[in-house]
Amino acid sequence: MSTLYLFNRDLRLKDNKALERACEEELINFAIAIKETKDWGESKKQFYFESVENLKNNLNKLGHELYQVHENDFKALEGIDRVIMTKNYNSKELPLLNSYTGEVIEVEQSTLFSIEELPFSLKNLPQTFTPFRHKMDKVKKIPCELKSQYSLPKRGGVNLSLCSVSELSEVNTKFKGGEDAGQARLNYYFSKKDLASHYFETRNGMLDFDDSTKFSPWLSWGCISANTIYHKLKNYEKEYGANKSSYWIFFELLWRDYFKFLSLQKGDLIFDLKGTARRELEFHPDQDQLFKQWKEAKTEEDFVNANMNELNENGWMSNRGRQNVASFLAKTYKVNWLWGAKYFENHLIDADLESNQGNWGYLAGVGVDPRDRKFNIERQQSIYDPEGEYIKKYSPKNACL
Ligand SMILES: Cc1cc2nc3c(=O)[nH]c(=O)nc-3n(C[C@H](O)[C@H](O)[C@H](O)COP(=O)(O)OP(=O)(O)OC[C@H]3O[C@@H](n4cnc5c(N)ncnc54)[C@H](O)[C@@H]3O)c2cc1C
Repeated sequence: MSTLYLFNRDLRLKDNKALERACEEELINFAIAIKETKDWGESKKQFYFESVENLKNNLNKLGHELYQVHENDFKALEGIDRVIMTKNYNSKELPLLNSYTGEVIEVEQSTLFSIEELPFSLKNLPQTFTPFRHKMDKVKKIPCELKSQYSLPKRGGVNLSLCSVSELSEVNTKFKGGEDAGQARLNYYFSKKDLASHYFETRNGMLDFDDSTKFSPWLSWGCISANTIYHKLKNYEKEYGANKSSYWIFFELLWRDYFKFLSLQKGDLIFDLKGTARRELEFHPDQDQLFKQWKEAKTEEDFVNANMNELNENGWMSNRGRQNVASFLAKTYKVNWLWGAKYFENHLIDADLESNQGNWGYLAGVGVDPRDRKFNIERQQSIYDPEGEYIKKYSPKNACL
């Protein structure tokens, strides 16, 4: 029997239930399904390959190698009897599995709440977030045990190429990929009394790294788990007290869960132009040109341009920025929102298909926003960047200061 553990969006060795399942095997090899990165921005590539390298080094310390298969190589798994992996929430991940005929053991672990813990069946998932959140608020969440080490089975059973990370570039960023850096960010964030307890007031900030948790890149690649964040959050609340801010971190993690469950319920509709709401949209006749301006940060709105510059330079944009540039592209410019979503997917270091499609659909008016809002960019700028500091930092030439 040849068994392969296939890493994809679970690039960690701690608190990994799929790894725990792998420990039941007699022999195992570990491989990563390497992503197709040709359209990615440099920051995203760097974060990803740093994460892969960190995983490889940590596996080596336990006496295991990390092998690699390409996510699009349909023949890569030939001769392998069993694949153990973390459950996916959409149909686009891991194309190589489409032609695989062996046994696949998928372990559910990417969300905070498991499907079993939901107080309704997936079929009855509320169609907007607020009723979902109210129902989830009543569920007593029991944090799963946090395991930091597993005794892995011996190596053996498959013959693949070793993973070699040669594509590391040197983009100067505050985000370093990998489980070790993710754990360090978690420990830092919850060791400071004043961060989680003021999150509600600071979360919309655009300039200070600690304005929000910045957990998303590590969470998206599975370098840290939602369960680990929840543990640390509860420990923080025990030590420093719970308040609206600490609750709001949990609230945001619920959004993430919601989009993953919505993706399971709606399937490929989250990737469809009419979205989950099945709404027809009209597009601007010059949408190609407008999309180009948006991507290149050359719109008539300094606030949009600054945010796009930050994305293009660092692979990052705040939630406030994302809401504004997405609303601007879809509602003001009337450009196909799927193009914007794809651009985000290729450039954001925290790109996560369910959260990205879910948020884009929401802002384009074809998703789960009951109000179908359009952001007033000037007003947003006056609230969130009243002194023009953010604009100055990210688009000095365009800034009207
Ligand atoms: C158009 C658009 C596209 C987006 N694309 C992505 C994406 O590809 N990947 C991604 O992780 N998030 C995405 N988001 C959600 C959100 O912007 C980021 O999760 C957040 O900015 C990450 O920063 P943080 O970790 O400091 O978040 P915090 O504010 O500290 O929140 C804590 C965690 O909650 C989760 N979270 C917060 N807000 C949301 C949200 N609106 N939807 C889902 N989860 C949320 C994230 O996992 C985040 O790490 C998108 C939002 C918009 C408007």
